[in-house]
Parts: sequence; C-alpha cells; structure tokens
Amino acid sequence: EAAKPSNFLRTIIERDVAAGTYDQRPYGGTPGDAAHHAAGPTDPARVRLRFPPEPNGYLHVGHAKSICLNFGLARDFGGVCHLRFDDTNPEKEDQEYVDAIEEMVKWLGWDWNAFGTSHLYFASDYFDFMYRAAEHLIERGLAYVDEQSADEMRANRGDFNTPGKDSPYRARTPSENLARFREMRDGVHADGSMVLRAKIDMASPNINLRDPAIYRIRRATHHNTGDKWCIYPMYTYAHPIEDALERITHSICTLEFEDQRPFYDWLLERLAEGGLLSHPLPKQYEFGRLNLSYVITSKRKLKQLVDEGHVSGWDDPRMPTLAGMRRRGYTPSAIRKMADDSGASKTNIWLDYSVLDIAQRDDLDPQVPRAMAVIDPLPLKLTNWKDVFGSADHREPCQAPVHPHHPERGVRQFSLGPTLWIERDDFAEVPAKGFFRLFPGNKVRLKYGVVVECTGCEKDASGQITAVTATVVPDTKSGTPGADAIKVKGVITWVAAHEAVATELRLFDRLFTEPQPDAGGRDYLSVLNPNSKRVVQGYIEPSLADVPAETRVQFERHGYFITDRMDHRANQPVINRITGLKDGWSK
Ligand code: ATP
Ligand code: MG
Ligand code: MG
Repeated sequence: EAAKPSNFLRTIIERDVAAGTYDQRPYGGTPGDAAHHAAGPTDPARVRLRFPPEPNGYLHVGHAKSICLNFGLARDFGGVCHLRFDDTNPEKEDQEYVDAIEEMVKWLGWDWNAFGTSHLYFASDYFDFMYRAAEHLIERGLAYVDEQSADEMRANRGDFNTPGKDSPYRARTPSENLARFREMRDGVHADGSMVLRAKIDMASPNINLRDPAIYRIRRATHHNTGDKWCIYPMYTYAHPIEDALERITHSICTLEFEDQRPFYDWLLERLAEGGLLSHPLPKQYEFGRLNLSYVITSKRKLKQLVDEGHVSGWDDPRMPTLAGMRRRGYTPSAIRKMADDSGASKTNIWLDYSVLDIAQRDDLDPQVPRAMAVIDPLPLKLTNWKDVFGSADHREPCQAPVHPHHPERGVRQFSLGPTLWIERDDFAEVPAKGFFRLFPGNKVRLKYGVVVECTGCEKDASGQITAVTATVVPDTKSGTPGADAIKVKGVITWVAAHEAVATELRLFDRLFTEPQPDAGGRDYLSVLNPNSKRVVQGYIEPSLADVPAETRVQFERHGYFITDRMDHRANQPVINRITGLKDGWSK
C-alpha cells in the first residue's frame, strides 16, 4: 500500500507518540474499575483507539469511514483499535445488530484482536462502574436528582442568548440526592419522573455544560444486562467513562460532538480527582462526517426504509449499508480505498457516488474474469449456417481469454451455433447516424466468432421484432488466417442459444433521485427512485454455469456483476449488477 497522506489526526498521534504522552499509563487495573480491568489491557500499545457503534441498526458507508480511520491509524502506529458496542439505550438495541456489526467489521478487513487479546467490549459491562461514579459525583456535590418535568427542564435550560435558570432541586444536599438516586435505581419512581444531572453551570455559554442529564429511569430489558437495571446512563456520561476504562488514548468522533468535549474533559477530570480513574486521560478529537451523494447515512432513516418495505431488507443491494454493499458486490478493498482517499478533516464532506463506483472498477478490473451475457435478449438466426458448416448441428468452437491482460489465466470455451442471443439494441431496422451494429446490409463481427451480414428481421402480428436474420461470411473466424480481411466497424457480444444459461439479472440504480435526499428536512421517501431495481431474464455464457454465490465477473460491454449471495443457485443463476463499465446512470 502507498504511504498514507497525512491528516490532522495522524499529526496529533505522532506528536503524542513522540512526547511519550501515554507511555506512563499504569497497566493492569485502576482502583474501582474491576468491571473491565480485571481482564484489562496488559499489552504494550501506546496508541489505543476505538470504533464505538450503537447496536441499533446496521453499519452504513459513513461508519466504514470511521472504522477505516480508527483501525487504520491503530495499525499504522502499532496500536490497538477496540470494537466497542455503545449499548446504553436498551429500547433500540438488539443482539441481531451486534452480530451484524461484528460480521461487517470483519468483512471490511479489520480485526479487534491484538497482542493476543480480543478487544471486543460492551459499554453495558461498565454499568456498575458508571453507577458507582455517579454516586461519587453526588457525594462530592457534583450531581443532583432533578424532578422537574422534561418541559420545565428544557425551558429552564435557556438558549444561546439566555442563561439557564437553576432547578428548584439543585440545592439538595448530597445525602438527599444519594437517597433519591438509590430510589431511582431501586425502581421506586416512574420512568421519566426524574433524572440525575451533573451540577456544573446553568449560565455556561456552552449549553452542554448547563447541568446535563447523566442518568434516566427507563424500565426496559437490555440485550446484555436483561432486567438488572431500570436506570441507564446517558450517552454523554457513558462515553467518556467507556473510553477511560478501556484506556483509549485518542477518542475520535464526528464533528457534532465538538460541543460535548468540555463535558467529556470535565467528567474525566472529576473522576480522576476522586481516584476512580487515572491519568493520562483520553482526549476527544472530532473529524468531519463522510456523506455520499444519492444516499442517506442515518440508521434511523435506513431502518424506516426497511420497516416500511421500500427495500427488501438491510442487505438490499441498493442500501448504503455495508451488508447491502456486500450483497451488491462492492469489495472491501474499494470501500477502504474510498475511506482512505477521503482523508480526515475538520469539515463534513460530500463525496459523489461516482467516487465509490470508480474505486470499485479500479479494484475489479484487474481481478475479475470476463464473460459474455445478454441482458435484453433477441434471437439472431444465421440462415446459411448449414451451407457454410455442412450441418445444422455443427457447433463452431470459440475461445476468449479469461482476462485480457493475464494470458496465464487461460481461456474460456464456448461455441457458435445457428441461433444466438444478442442484445435487442444491437439491431436497428433503420440505423441512426453512427450506428455500426446490425442493420440490413451491414456486417458486424460476433466477438471471438465470425463476421455476419444482416439480412433483415422477423416480426409478430403487432409489429414487434422477434428475431434478426443474418448470414455467416465464410472464413472470417477470429484467430484464423485472413479473418480480418473484411473490415467491420461493429463488434457485438452474444451467447449461443444451444448453450446459453438462462439467468435472472438484477440491475440496480441509485435509490434516490436527488443527490442529497434528506437535505433541508425533505421527506426522503418522496424522492425514492421508482426505477432503482429492474429484474430481467437474460442469458450468460456456459463458462459461468456452475459458479458459486458471490462470484464476480465482468460482462463484456455491460459492467461488473456478482452472483447473489442469498438467491443464486448454480442451476438457477441470480446475478446482480455491481456497476457499469463507465460512469453514469444505467447503461
Ligand atoms: P447514525 O446517525 O447513522 O445512527 P451514529 O453516529 O449515531 O450514526 P453510531 O453507531 O453511534 O451511529 O456510530 C459509530 C461511530 O461511527 C461514531 O463514532 C460516529 O461518529 C461514526 N460515524 C457515524 N456516521 C458517520 C459518518 N457519516 N462519517 C463518519 N463517521 C461516522
Ligand atoms: Mg451515535
Ligand atoms: Mg445518530
């Protein structure tokens, strides 16, 4: 791999490595965090990053950016990247999502095992520590139980121009707060009736420091802790603690968390003062989100597409989920390349979807075998076959390279017969200017086969063309002496009817008709592309008759395709189009 271009995160990590910022971290446990550190890191990594998805949906292409950034930096600095499930929100989370996320991180080519240890973690494993830390804050007068309604709290928070107002509950003593908080934990109070808040500054210019809520009451069964808890930590409280317990060095997140950073630091400093955590503490750094045109990257919105049946599932090949992209045939290496090339910056970036398609083609072109397929089939009848070859049953063997630039990969065998399948649009009764393919009186080459001269077509009662007729021009077989004596301007692909394999072809287009489907709060369902999936019956050459699912191929003139990982059967092929040969819509 080529040297990675630098970016501000790389620079920060280089600086910390050079300064030895994290060299003095004690290993083997910190007082009070038995939950994790019993099995905690004992390895020598001085750079420790994490990818922290919430298991409330499937990973999408934006997550791929974050995964590649974190795992890539960890690899480049000889460190570790944790896969941590940020599972503090029980009502939306599910084991199904945990499993799917693990599978897709691995599929993308990353590994959370390092220095002989698995670095797979669950935030919910730290609930005991988080609870203890909350009591600690209460005891030090740094947190209080607030019984205002959600509306009152919102109103009293103030806004950018107005300082907030203190809650009437803010002056409670630590012992009152402790008793109340324990009642919250013990299920004495109703969901939503009160919250625990950090006690910081209701007049702070940063609204996130106006006594943020850190615990809420929610009677919900958790996928990991079951019914053990009826109070759950808020994300802003949980996340810094997760990082600190795992001894993360650089906590990389997206820009929308920038305003949370002061609270991140406030919380960890307070817990370190209290001896619950130890220095050096993790630091948060923000980078811009990756957005892709014609795609939405919000788990909630993607879930709506699934739940309402606008797509066939999370792994629908049109979905920008990694599961969908895998099924579509996109390669992990091309996704990684797109993520790498997009760097890391301090602004959210919009990539055009073509960038991903170009990366796919660049990745697939040198690798995948070639084959011929007919997507919109029309019969071509060679009416002088018997005269030229002596028998209607004669089959004329042909061959073509598996890959044009890799002769060592050998040849594909197939044959010509008297009836072939060709593309409907390779014939025109009346040719437009510049049309060099089949029209009456014109000669074209059947790729890897012979030259034929078009004589006309057959039609049904309604005038629809049902077959094209042509005659073989003798002694023009590709690869034989004199084959090129007749010059033709058109070369067409074909599959012989006697050996063609009937195939379902699924042709995908963008899921949305607008480059920014959800911009400005638009109802993205209103810009769903009604033609984003077309299913046709076509034919493929016999070299593909028995290939397994997830086999990629380039169909000459058509683009890159993959046998569907779910629905493909060797005797009943189902093939997805990954992308065309050139940029642009459809073909
Ligand atoms: P969504 O809004 O789709 O639910 P999220 O950010 O809430 O995404 P998480 O599961 O919390 O989902 O994301 C895990 C990590 O992936 C976070 O660190 C988040 O910042 C990062 N991430 C999510 N979307 C993007 C994106 N479009 N570009 C870069 N990083 C992203
Ligand atoms: Mg999130
Ligand atoms: Mg989100």
